[in-house]
Amino acid sequence: MGASERFPETQLQPKHILVTGGAGFIGSNFVRWVLQHDSNVKVTNLDALTYAGNLRSLVDVEQSFGSDGDGRYRFVRGDVRDFELVGKLLGGENDKVTQFDRAQSPPRPIHHDSIGPPPDAIVHFAAESHVDRSIAGPEIFVETNVKGTLTLLEACRRELDERPREFRFIHLSTDEVYGDLGPHDPPFTESSPLAPNNPYSASKAAADHMVRSYRRTFGLPVIVTRCSNNYGPFQFPEKLIPLMITRALRDESLPVYGDGTNVRDWIHVDDHCRALWAVMECGEIGAIYNIAGGVEVPNIEIVKRLLALLDKPESLIEFVRDRPGHDRRYAMGVARIKEASGWAPRHAFADGLADTVQWYLENESWWQRIPDEA
Ligand code: NAD
Repeated sequence: MGASERFPETQLQPKHILVTGGAGFIGSNFVRWVLQHDSNVKVTNLDALTYAGNLRSLVDVEQSFGSDGDGRYRFVRGDVRDFELVGKLLGGENDKVTQFDRAQSPPRPIHHDSIGPPPDAIVHFAAESHVDRSIAGPEIFVETNVKGTLTLLEACRRELDERPREFRFIHLSTDEVYGDLGPHDPPFTESSPLAPNNPYSASKAAADHMVRSYRRTFGLPVIVTRCSNNYGPFQFPEKLIPLMITRALRDESLPVYGDGTNVRDWIHVDDHCRALWAVMECGEIGAIYNIAGGVEVPNIEIVKRLLALLDKPESLIEFVRDRPGHDRRYAMGVARIKEASGWAPRHAFADGLADTVQWYLENESWWQRIPDEA
């Protein structure tokens, strides 16, 4: 990070971050970014490995920073709703964290060596994150996104009651909690009212409220970030950009909702990771920070650009029935994070998109091995 991005009074220099959902798209990029960025920081990655979690996204991280590397990284398979496990990880007890692999009969103990000191930050990525899946089956979204967040908040509250220390709970939310905008509306700010329109965004908004309540009621040192649509390497190929790339590479039709004019604001995942670090270091406790690339693009234009980059014909595009409740447009102002930290996105969209296409071309084995049923 350039010096211009460091707030004059850095408030927290984390030593050990508990990352949840670090085997997913943004989480795995963040884990890699943090370990490469700061050689003093350790990371525990707690992830349940749902369909969206993939340890093959972290092979290089495990090699460089895991137990065979410099020992600053460990993976723990587990659920954010597992209060006991989260409590142990937060306590950073020097004794080992033991889980039982219930797939084995009798259940086999798995030991995780502590990489202590106790975490001084949680960065909470773990979630069910796909809108279409939330329309097909909303319950798991409430379970993971609301109950999972509540479990973490409560575990933090207990931990900090017992062992008070400087701490940050960084909660990842989304621009979708604000609902959508008309074509000429000004961008959302952090004080725009929440108006979620689908079960995914409703579950994220509920979690945001729970986080807010733990600040007000219990004084928990929370910060909420709301980010726009991310793109980049290791994104699960159900999301727009990797879905279109991987289908086009197989000469399959590219399903585009409605007339394709819905607008999203895109940010490269690397810019998001830098923003999260900036917020963790110098964000104000209790504040909300919007994070966005400031690049508004209609979906159909994304698809056409991808086809051009892949040298595939536009005849692959197939317009399909619109997603129910489909938000028209998202856009957010990012003045607050800029002012607090000097952060600004660095990736030009055209370059970032081309790099992303190149990554999927070079890493076919990563996405080809994702099971069809996922
Ligand atoms: P993802 O779906 O790629 O990854 C989610 C990860 O969470 C997976 O590794 C999964 O195994 C894990 N997980 C799910 N349920 C869990 C549980 N109960 N316990 C532990 N781990 C569990 O998601 P993503 O795209 O990387 O998004 C990460 C976070 O960022 C989410 O909170 C999402 O709402 C938010 N966000 C994403 C975007 C985006 O464009 N992708 C934009 C704004 C905000």
